[in-house]
Amino acid sequence: MDADMPLERKLDILMEMAGDDHEGAGGKARVLPPRLRHAKEVGALRPLNIRQLRTQVGKVSLMRILMTNACSFNCHYCPMRRDRSMPRTLLKPEELVRIFLEAHRRGWCSGLFLTTGIPGRPTKVMDDLITVLELLRVKHRFAGYVHVKMVPGAEPAQIERLTALASRVSLNLEAPCGSSLARIAPEKSLDTALESLDRARRQVVREREEKAMGRPADPLRPGGTSGMTMQFVVGATPDSDRTLVGKVTELYAKGGIHHAHFSAFRPIRETPMEEAPAAPALREVRLYQTDYLLRQYGFGADEVVFDGKGNLPLANDPKTTWALAHPERFPVEVRTAPYEELVRVPGIGPGAAKKLVAERGRTVLRSLADLRGLGVVTTRAAGFLTLNGRRFQDVRWAEQLGFWGADDDTGRHHFTYDVSPGTFR
Ligand code: SF4
Repeated sequence: MDADMPLERKLDILMEMAGDDHEGAGGKARVLPPRLRHAKEVGALRPLNIRQLRTQVGKVSLMRILMTNACSFNCHYCPMRRDRSMPRTLLKPEELVRIFLEAHRRGWCSGLFLTTGIPGRPTKVMDDLITVLELLRVKHRFAGYVHVKMVPGAEPAQIERLTALASRVSLNLEAPCGSSLARIAPEKSLDTALESLDRARRQVVREREEKAMGRPADPLRPGGTSGMTMQFVVGATPDSDRTLVGKVTELYAKGGIHHAHFSAFRPIRETPMEEAPAAPALREVRLYQTDYLLRQYGFGADEVVFDGKGNLPLANDPKTTWALAHPERFPVEVRTAPYEELVRVPGIGPGAAKKLVAERGRTVLRSLADLRGLGVVTTRAAGFLTLNGRRFQDVRWAEQLGFWGADDDTGRHHFTYDVSPGTFR
């Protein structure tokens, strides 16, 4: 590992992965805010690693960076694995803090997303992460958003210190079962990761309870108030979506976890999984949509509809799949249905359902155009609704029969990549 290379070269290496890591199949995340488009010309900080994010503290643009891309682990799917040849470097905590504060001063970012490989002992890496946090919070009095990825195998006191200083902490679980994790990451233990996650999660819950009881808020010691996140690699193991959703639900039930991240596996050049097929990006999207149903739409895990193999059907989003499987619940009458029924209609999100409930008491809703004005996606919702007892149209039977096979191309071509998704989630 070359720790003495010029800073600009270090940044090139440690930030390049972030530019290619975004959820789902869309390319929106690559579009930079106008003022960042020429940031590359200004200095070593490349703009690709900066990403807009909505958080509890409002909108933040995160500078996403690796502390080091060196790693002693040899996970089969990872581009940073020990046996893979690539330029390796690291930023010392002081260097990293200086770079971030300079970018922050120039207005390029308002928060930090920090992740890292694990060269040597996890406890040493955790010490360095804690040093970064302490420099930011204690020495430089930085009170903004900081998301840090913990490394598995840390000491309990380290987990508590990191969680106390970060706005959000996260942990990569990678797989929902210990045995499947062992197939792709033989040196990792799901039990160890879950233990670390549980310790941080309990602290988040504790800190929130103390705040709710009136403890004055200290922005320099937020205690993970934005909640934890966890990440799974999807399709690298035979685990079904049903198993993933079950694990996520089990972990949510304990509190303190904000949401899960799902990263569709894609094969990385010069790794043992180079020849393994990529998971469809749409599978990742369907898992995120299901996660929303569980967290924001009042769905229970036992209501999610899976196919015969225990996976989410790709042809329709999971709410439409559920609606098509439950004709007895439709049509829903716009004028009288409670919020809980409206929000289960495909094309009606929580915002539109709330507006419908509020507006129908004040004005007379007459047409699809009125519903559109309230945020209803009528092309999807119309078949599932009545207005004053009148149906708009039939359910789209072509959708029900799955005529539109999603990702029909999956598996037809085999691409390999240099960057794995999920590093910066
Ligand atoms: S997944 Fe994490 S621990 Fe495993 S090789 Fe990659 S960086 Fe190292």
